[in-house]
Amino acid sequence: MATSATLAMAAKARELREQGKDIIGLSLGEPDFTIPEFVKEAAIQAVKDNYHSYTPVDGYVELKKAIIKKFERDNDLSYQPAQIVVSTGAKQSLSNLAHVLLNEGDEVLLPAPYWVSYRDISEVAGGVPVVITTSIDNDFKVTPQELEAAITPKSKLLIYSSPCNPSGSVYTKEELRALADVLVKYPQIIVISDEIYEHISYAGKHVSMAGFSDMYDRTVTVNGVSKAFSMTGWRIGYLGGPEYIARACNKMQGQVTSGANCIAQRATIAALENPPSKIQYMVDAFQNRRKLILDLLIDIPGIKSNEPDGAFYVFPDISYYFGKTIRGRTIKNSGDFALFLLEEANVATVTGEAFGDPNCIRISYAASESDIKEAMSRIKAALQ
Ligand code: PMP
Ligand code: GLU
Repeated sequence: MATSATLAMAAKARELREQGKDIIGLSLGEPDFTIPEFVKEAAIQAVKDNYHSYTPVDGYVELKKAIIKKFERDNDLSYQPAQIVVSTGAKQSLSNLAHVLLNEGDEVLLPAPYWVSYRDISEVAGGVPVVITTSIDNDFKVTPQELEAAITPKSKLLIYSSPCNPSGSVYTKEELRALADVLVKYPQIIVISDEIYEHISYAGKHVSMAGFSDMYDRTVTVNGVSKAFSMTGWRIGYLGGPEYIARACNKMQGQVTSGANCIAQRATIAALENPPSKIQYMVDAFQNRRKLILDLLIDIPGIKSNEPDGAFYVFPDISYYFGKTIRGRTIKNSGDFALFLLEEANVATVTGEAFGDPNCIRISYAASESDIKEAMSRIKAALQ
């Protein structure tokens, strides 16, 4: 199993900062906002109310109710409590799913670029990743033909995120329906729809795969509060899906971590009970930063980017620089490029190889406007 490239780059940036270097960190997908006051207050209240015990493995009943209401309010999805499992971050929801669903040798369809951990989580659970290459010219989205060509009798899971980490692409309802039309022909495939960026979208109403009635019984919807509520360190994620899958995840989690943190769960109730309009100020800020970073990126020779519709990443193609020697260093791949930016421009990004696309790098714009401006000007200067 490889080390998580996102976390490894963040650790490297931290280490260089401790050595006194002025590093701008655009590697980690982590909102720079503080947690909304109403969420903080719920957590403080939970401490005062003496919440301290082990929690139910699959989550507090009140939190499950809030999740069910959230699914109804935001996604038109209807779940019963037995179909919901709360976990220690969406990462654990994904890991539980891989462990309970994959048998040794089962294939996991991963349209690339995919989120870095899908691959290793699948592999450690015995799965075999089948990477489906997409193109920047198609906004990094997988087409029905590309999906169907990758399916074999061993295909067991399809995992994707929309809005996508790292490309920012958002599938439209028509595009998802076209993928569903392929999937209905292969009933052995279960879909994991990672919707953790649903609110950080500039493309109109979010679409869930489980919203198609013929996909509902075969789709697990994964979500969490890390991104929308800036609660990355509080570690709460959740899933809604077929009851037999939820039951298996519950069993798995009961042997590995038990229920998620009690204070964070109480705070999550407050987060989810509030309508998405409460966090619109963060989304508006991300949208302004997207424009800022795209305007500055276009100004750098040799860099090609699509216009991401969601999340807080740009995923430019930097392959123009492969084979070029800058200040005695030859850039052979996107890993070299990211390292060059770190050491020569003091800007931390993540290599596209980690996301299954070796021509690109990922730059997070979940950072202040002044950091974005300074980082882009340093990158431009280093490359010039
Ligand atoms: N899925 C995607 C696409 C992500 O970007 C992240 C970010 N860490 C996660 C899942 C996991 O989120 P968390 O474990 O913080 O809920
Ligand atoms: N999801 C974030 C990212 O992609 C956080 C890092 C991680 O969980 O790997 O940067």
